[in-house]
Amino acid sequence: MVKALQDMWAMTARISSAHRYARLLPALLLALAIAAPSAQTTITPEKNSYSVADDVKLGLEAAAEARKQLPMLNDNQVDELVEDVGAQLAAAISGELRHAGFRYTFDVVNQKEINAFALPGGPMFLNRGMIEAAGTEAEMAGVMAHEIAHVALRHGTAQATKGQKFQIGAVAGQILGAIVGGAAGSVISQGSQFGLGAYFLKYGREYERQADLMGAQIMARAGYDPREMANMFKTIQAEGGSSGPEWLSSHPDPGNRYNAIVQEASMLRVEGNANSGQFQSIKSRLAGMSPAYTAEQIAKGQAKTGGRTVGTSGRRVVNVEPPSSSYRTHQPSEFVRVSVPVNWDAVDASGGGVTYAPEGGFVQADNGGSAFTHGVQVGVAQGGGGDLQQDTQQLLQGFSRSNPDLRAAGTSRRETIGGRPGITTPLSNISGATGEREYITLSTTQLRDGSLLYVIGVAPQSEAKTYETTFRRVRQSLQIADR
Ligand SMILES: [Zn+2]
Repeated sequence: MVKALQDMWAMTARISSAHRYARLLPALLLALAIAAPSAQTTITPEKNSYSVADDVKLGLEAAAEARKQLPMLNDNQVDELVEDVGAQLAAAISGELRHAGFRYTFDVVNQKEINAFALPGGPMFLNRGMIEAAGTEAEMAGVMAHEIAHVALRHGTAQATKGQKFQIGAVAGQILGAIVGGAAGSVISQGSQFGLGAYFLKYGREYERQADLMGAQIMARAGYDPREMANMFKTIQAEGGSSGPEWLSSHPDPGNRYNAIVQEASMLRVEGNANSGQFQSIKSRLAGMSPAYTAEQIAKGQAKTGGRTVGTSGRRVVNVEPPSSSYRTHQPSEFVRVSVPVNWDAVDASGGGVTYAPEGGFVQADNGGSAFTHGVQVGVAQGGGGDLQQDTQQLLQGFSRSNPDLRAAGTSRRETIGGRPGITTPLSNISGATGEREYITLSTTQLRDGSLLYVIGVAPQSEAKTYETTFRRVRQSLQIADR
């Protein structure tokens, strides 16, 4: 890119010195000016060990769940505008990032919180609150372009490539747990919040930087001023209050966000004008509707869509049989074996088993939501590179972001896990499913590739004595054979 620019400058210099061709100059300079916007930042997709078809499958499964559990607005006029804007943006994705089978779809969720998320392969969900917060169509388009960039760059599976080893089939339900759980503060799927779903919805700074810049490029090509994306992020931040909107917690500021987007915008030429002129009338239309549901209402099962109730009440008391003293061995992934009480089954895992729970310890609601109050989950998380203690701390911080009530409950201790140095940390939490205090232990050890294998046990605090022994036996049964 830099090389090409230098060549152009050299050519300009030559032309300038050739004064006998002076009459041709204005036309040539004009041609150069048109060529100049190619100076946009080049964004290279990250390494990804999943196939494009995996992205599509994962996204479709999670999207079907999302449509079951979230209250869709189902308003033709609003949907039409959002779909038009989305289609124009998707058409502006550059050729090499158009993947076979990706289909960009756009649903509006009748939810108040300022949020939007896009799933692998293209399904996007935009909260009504996000549209209401946007001042202009281009501001709304800014968030959508940013989300589309995450999808086109395949950030979800790229991020999973770095850490998780479980099969795709195990993940779809967990993605939704992370969406709804994270948004609700009170969790629909308590198991899920500790799961793998966060890989697909919460990104690090580098991915955010890429999505900002590529989103700006998409906007310009589609006919929206990319500066409006920068404005929208300011708006979102201002609406945040003390905790900040959900969108910002899953799309952290890569640093200097506003200026970086404006800088990129200065290198881009906005091609035409995509604004429909319909945005303000759509906003008035929304303003005339009954208020959007809050995340809390959705989590409590108080939201309706087309006369059907969505979400889950979650809070229920269940009688759960104590853990058996006989154990059975499972293989949650190719290289991990773990023994759990015989009265526990692998639940919420269609491929590589992840969560083991007794009957009643795992609640499957009518709408597909789930909650996990008793049992263990075995997972792999991304490591920070080297130090077990630091990586464990980082993992805990990740958990705390979606579990605001999660606390340390004593000091960590060194312990051998799967024949390797490990750490076990006692924790406590307030259950999103029952509202009661929970006893939790987190055990971690490192895999050869630097990622972190973790076993997390969850039980009501009132049954801590019983489960303490069970969790210890489970983690001591771990056999790891990664290479
Ligand atoms: Zn983002």
